[in-house]
Amino acid sequence: MNINVVNADSSKNEADSLKEEKNKNQTIKEDDNKSVSELRQDLVTGDWVVIATGRAKRPDEFAAFERIKNDSGIEKCLFEDPVASGQEPDTLIYYKEDGDWTLRVFPNKYPSFSRGKLPKKIESGPYFAMNGSGYHEIIATRDHYHHLQEMEDFEIAEVFDAFQDRYLDLMNRKSVNYIVIFHNYGKEAGASIAHPHSQLVAIPVISPYISQELQGSEIYYKKNKHCVYCTMAEYESEKKERVVFENDEFIAFCPFSSRAAFEVWVMPKKHQPYFERITNSEKIKLAEVFGKALNSIWLALKDPPYNFYIHTAPCDGKDYPRFHWHIEILPHTSTWAGFELETGIEISTIQPEVAAQYLRDIINKKQNEN
Ligand SMILES: [Zn+2]
Ligand SMILES: [Zn+2]
Ligand SMILES: [Zn+2]
Repeated sequence: MNINVVNADSSKNEADSLKEEKNKNQTIKEDDNKSVSELRQDLVTGDWVVIATGRAKRPDEFAAFERIKNDSGIEKCLFEDPVASGQEPDTLIYYKEDGDWTLRVFPNKYPSFSRGKLPKKIESGPYFAMNGSGYHEIIATRDHYHHLQEMEDFEIAEVFDAFQDRYLDLMNRKSVNYIVIFHNYGKEAGASIAHPHSQLVAIPVISPYISQELQGSEIYYKKNKHCVYCTMAEYESEKKERVVFENDEFIAFCPFSSRAAFEVWVMPKKHQPYFERITNSEKIKLAEVFGKALNSIWLALKDPPYNFYIHTAPCDGKDYPRFHWHIEILPHTSTWAGFELETGIEISTIQPEVAAQYLRDIINKKQNEN
């Protein structure tokens, strides 16, 4: 205000020209018809994502990401001989015929939850809490350098077998209402130990993301009398443009509203709310589709860090007939900054259709070589 008064008296011309310039700067030029991005809505959660179209990257540009190596080698690896390195006794172990182990599950040495305790309510003024009870386990496979993306179908099926075994054992414990099974690969994806391993966390509360999916699938069913995930699987399988790989039981596709470049979902084609009810023959079919999808991402992005997790209905004693279990694979190709953190909306710099085509080509090329 003061400055304006002074300017008005002493240097009117200068102020006017400044304002003119300012006005000029405030003029927004409308874009021509071409749009640089598309906002797409997730059919289940209603969340929005931004898919860059105008300045989208080429598929091969994502491989340029520099990787942080975090492997201190087999000699120092804590999972080569878990018992000798002070891990707790195994909760599950699979052996080969020659007596060596192929997979073992043991409690995490640094768990985020204490075992066996019943969750106790803690009140603090207007606040509410409970003690962190639950189970936190490590599922490790034998070979230090043999990761899931390079495994044979039968090896991947064994990993899913262990997931199911542990799930079935923990799901009926009193402190457990929800079990999340996930896998971190690469330093940027949160893997602190390079040895191939997945994790299982069984907790008394349901994750907000699953709550959103449960609610979304319920709402969609009420409106359409059809499962939202079945709807997606059927549509994608028919259209083919976002399909990465499918067999008669499972489908892998880049979701329409991909949150990240090269995101892939894997789901049973038949309506199944509960992962833990998977049969042995379905595990092999799942391993084929999941393995091909993960391998193609790994080849396409040249060894990217990634996470995947299983989304299945909670085990809190309620029925979830409208839910449909699935796996979400998220490669790390970018870092979240202010816009993403505030909005939760990630800007995906490649169209899911282009990513799927690229992954499909890799799978076809490999199949033709064999
Ligand atoms: Zn190791
Ligand atoms: Zn379904
Ligand atoms: Zn999900």
